[in-house]
Amino acid sequence: MKQEILEKKDIKVVEIFRTIEGEGRWVGLPIVFIRLEGCNLRCEWCDTKYSYDGITFKTYKISELIQQIEKQNLKRVCITGGEPFYTPELPILTETLLEKNYKVFIETNGTLWLPEMEPLFNENLYITCSPKPPTYYIHPKLIPFVSELKFVVDKYIKIEDIIKPEFIPLIKNDIIVLQPESNKPEMVKKALKFQDELLKHGVESRIIPQCHKVLGLP
Ligand code: SF4
Repeated sequence: MKQEILEKKDIKVVEIFRTIEGEGRWVGLPIVFIRLEGCNLRCEWCDTKYSYDGITFKTYKISELIQQIEKQNLKRVCITGGEPFYTPELPILTETLLEKNYKVFIETNGTLWLPEMEPLFNENLYITCSPKPPTYYIHPKLIPFVSELKFVVDKYIKIEDIIKPEFIPLIKNDIIVLQPESNKPEMVKKALKFQDELLKHGVESRIIPQCHKVLGLP
């Protein structure tokens, strides 16, 4: 029955490529990226606008996509976007990969939720949530499952956007990554200030650039 669904259901994919993890706490490890089509937000500095232009995608059956992933011969997959939770087929794709013993990373802006995801959470599913301006909202259902909270440090973000009451249970667990926007020196300075401010509240954070860009990788 499930195989039948995998062979029938379409999923829109913008790109599939193997590279290294360039952001966050798993930086440097080899990983297969699946970029799903569509996003519910329109961030000013978005560097993947092609992921929601409505034309730059290919439609796969989910079973075909799994075959493409298997060809890469690596048991680590990052599902990104766009916004992966915008794709209703995200739960069945994630479930199938977990069943096939993949470690699955999902990069999300945190604003959306799919209830079918809830039973899938285990130690092989890692959620990186990067809340976006101006609200830095995370869907309350997602909050308990966030493994990493990544903030792009741009000219707008304030320390109050990070130290918010709803984030407190999360940020105590050393999961904050501060990513200076486009690796700009002035944003590195701002990130250092935030890091210090967070320490005053007893919260550790890591400043990590977009390493794939430094290395000239996709
Ligand atoms: S949430 Fe991500 S993909 Fe969507 S517009 Fe913002 S930066 Fe771009």
